[in-house]
Amino acid sequence: MIERTLVLLKPDAVQRCFVGEIITRFERVGLKIVGMKMVWVDKEFSRKHYSDHVDKPFYPGLENFITEGPVIAMVLEGIHAVEVVRKLVGPTEPKQAPPGTIRGDFSHHSYAYTDKKGIAIKNLIHASGSVEDAKKEVSLWFKPEELHSYKTVHDVHTL
Ligand code: ATP
Ligand code: MG
Repeated sequence: MIERTLVLLKPDAVQRCFVGEIITRFERVGLKIVGMKMVWVDKEFSRKHYSDHVDKPFYPGLENFITEGPVIAMVLEGIHAVEVVRKLVGPTEPKQAPPGTIRGDFSHHSYAYTDKKGIAIKNLIHASGSVEDAKKEVSLWFKPEELHSYKTVHDVHTL
């Protein structure tokens, strides 16, 4: 039941200086950061990460978005981490994302607006969508030696 999941703080989150606020939300529920780095993604790597989306009409805008500045990549570990992180992140479209979620609290883009502008929906954060995707994405972004096993207070109080 203990899972690892990939989270990216996208270029809008980094440029809007929300890195600390967003990471705090994961720490305070007891998820453990087991890997973290800053990466400026190129087009080739974007196509690998978003391989399921490369043929979709919004892909060119998504590629521009994810390559426009550095991202913070991290691997979070915890009980049902994949599902719990997606819950904290909220739905893809910020307009629909409820208050209390990261996308709902820090962004308000809509599909109608981004479709008209021909840009990606700017929603601050990526989180693996399933346990299977998480395994693939963690190994795409991190080498085994970049991931760490250590104890936090949550190993005493939560597990
Ligand atoms: P992510 O994979 O980044 O965590 P997600 O799983 O909520 O987001 P996906 O359907 O995987 O959503 O889409 C990947 C990203 O592509 C979205 O986060 C968003 O930035 C962008 N995107 C998705 N659908 C659209 C769309 N219809 N128009 C514009 N951008 C879109
Ligand atoms: Mg996705």
